[in-house]
Amino acid sequence: MKKYCEECGREVETKIITQNEVYDVCGEKIEVEAQVLVCAECGEDFYSEELDNATLIRAYNEYRRRHKLLLPEEIKKIREQYGLNQRGFAKLLNWGDKTICRYENGSIQDKAHNSLLLFLREPENMRTYLTENEISLDEKQKSRLLEIVEKLEQDNEYRVGRQFFDLIFSKDPCEGGEVPEGILSEDEIVILERIYQKFKAFHSLDMSNYFPKENGYKSTNQGEIISYSHAKDIQLN
Ligand SMILES: [Zn+2]
Repeated sequence: MKKYCEECGREVETKIITQNEVYDVCGEKIEVEAQVLVCAECGEDFYSEELDNATLIRAYNEYRRRHKLLLPEEIKKIREQYGLNQRGFAKLLNWGDKTICRYENGSIQDKAHNSLLLFLREPENMRTYLTENEISLDEKQKSRLLEIVEKLEQDNEYRVGRQFFDLIFSKDPCEGGEVPEGILSEDEIVILERIYQKFKAFHSLDMSNYFPKENGYKSTNQGEIISYSHAKDIQLN
């Protein structure tokens, strides 16, 4: 892209260079890597709205990272998971009409606001918030929100269970070490590997045929919790 350079006094070729720049974000000096459009001949800076905006966003995000603040898109995601528009979400939180809109568009949120958003990210906490605070939503909006919370809670339980299941069963634990390091001890991995090898091809019917052979199952009444003391008798054969 050609531009007129004041220094050179003529049209020149431009190029983009990378340099460190210091930005003032909420009174704090933040150094970020910036891409800058310059004259290819003399190196004079040119203004580029696109590049400057990108650098500013990077500086803001670095500030957020340092202060453990949610990113604008994370705030949006929290709002959207509850099916609320910006105004409705602000109302629920007793914040100004435009507050959520500003945060989602890149303004840095204050710490207290950030804490409340983080808290409300969990559906269980939203339920607590709805039951323990005076909410400025009408009854219809409130019951609709509670329905969504309920659904999210169920999805969460399912997801947590699913993640555990996937972690243990979806991959062969001995190949490639997919189980993240430090979560399970060597011994535990050996045990899981044995369980996996034993049951990987089992269907529910195989399971219900197998269980009655185990002592723990045989000596526990229907509906009671099987004691860990039976672990030493497990056949796994
Ligand atoms: Zn120049």
